[in-house]
Amino acid sequence: MRVNAEKCIGCGICLDYCNVDAISMNKTGDTEIAVIDNDVCVECGVCYNQKACPRGAIEKTELSSYTDIFKHVISDPTTTTKETGVPGRGTEEAKTNDVTGRYQKGEIGICIDMGRPGVGCYMYDVEKVAMAVAEAGVNFPGPEHTPLAKLMEDIDTGKIKEEVHNLHVLSVIIEGKCKEAALPGVLKAVKQVEKKIDTVFSLGLVSRVNEKGEAVVTDMIEAEGFEMPRKGKVNVGLGRPLID
Ligand code: SF4
Ligand code: SF4
Repeated sequence: MRVNAEKCIGCGICLDYCNVDAISMNKTGDTEIAVIDNDVCVECGVCYNQKACPRGAIEKTELSSYTDIFKHVISDPTTTTKETGVPGRGTEEAKTNDVTGRYQKGEIGICIDMGRPGVGCYMYDVEKVAMAVAEAGVNFPGPEHTPLAKLMEDIDTGKIKEEVHNLHVLSVIIEGKCKEAALPGVLKAVKQVEKKIDTVFSLGLVSRVNEKGEAVVTDMIEAEGFEMPRKGKVNVGLGRPLID
């Protein structure tokens, strides 16, 4: 995204449209115009699609590198990821409804939703969190389920490719699952790594209820000192097809 300096009159209206503060005013002599920092811009398209500029000065730039295309696809809810065929952040994740059949008995699903609401995140922080939970026993799904896997150099460790470390995106979901017994360690890892990153995230856990209708995950959450969430979601048919 860019500002056409010929058209901009420096009214500043567009500033409020950008969630991640990529637009700022630049004064040269008596002239003040808006500029977009492309390292901060996540190519979400909000300023352009919402026609933020009354002069039409905000223009799309061609996204040529795969990193620019990635941040656009992951940050603009109107696009669809080619590999997964899913719009938005390109992932059919458990929070929306599990249709993947990934969560079986004795397994806990992990969804770490980074950068939301409205803060954004850099991939180097995503790597810190992914590597911390991978070391604690979380396995990540492949690129057919989540676009993040495409940016991983090593899907076993969660290491992100060096060339995308400084990529800024609106939000990204780290998805994976671990054995039930590994969950306490994963929760500890989340608590530790939270102190080392400069963004926000929410942690979602996915678990099947047992025959008595109990979710063992709730005791484990409390045992690790997490406040029990007030919100949850019940999916009927979670974990199908069942592999017993
Ligand atoms: S495309 Fe999105 S991130 Fe980039 S300047 Fe516009 S609103 Fe901000
Ligand atoms: S809204 Fe348009 S004219 Fe006003 S500062 Fe932004 S780009 Fe310039």
